[in-house]
Amino acid sequence: MHEYSITCSILEILEKIIKEKNLKKIKKVKFELSKLASIEPQSIKFYFDFLTAENQRLKGAILKFKKNKLKLACSKCGKIFESNAEFDISNVKCPACRIKNAQVREEDDIRIVSVETD
Ligand SMILES: [Zn+2]
Repeated sequence: MHEYSITCSILEILEKIIKEKNLKKIKKVKFELSKLASIEPQSIKFYFDFLTAENQRLKGAILKFKKNKLKLACSKCGKIFESNAEFDISNVKCPACRIKNAQVREEDDIRIVSVETD
């Protein structure tokens, strides 16, 4: 069910964009998902279609999701980098100083990257 509340906040953000930019229709929305987010894109799509069925400005919009790689920050030099590592990052070396002491960088579970209109 947590995708339902996520979809509601996405819709709030989109409504705000529509208002600010005076848009007639949103055709496509691109999202980035954090590597660690447990979000099911299919559920977001389902709730989005359900909640926008009567909303001419958002109805039928295409939702695209891109899963980010794990974002790490070196605890020595502070460099921020991406890693293909899954959840065990103890062997990941910093690309700058080669130290194995990276920390997972906090980021939003889901983020709107772009909005396409007519
Ligand atoms: Zn480093």
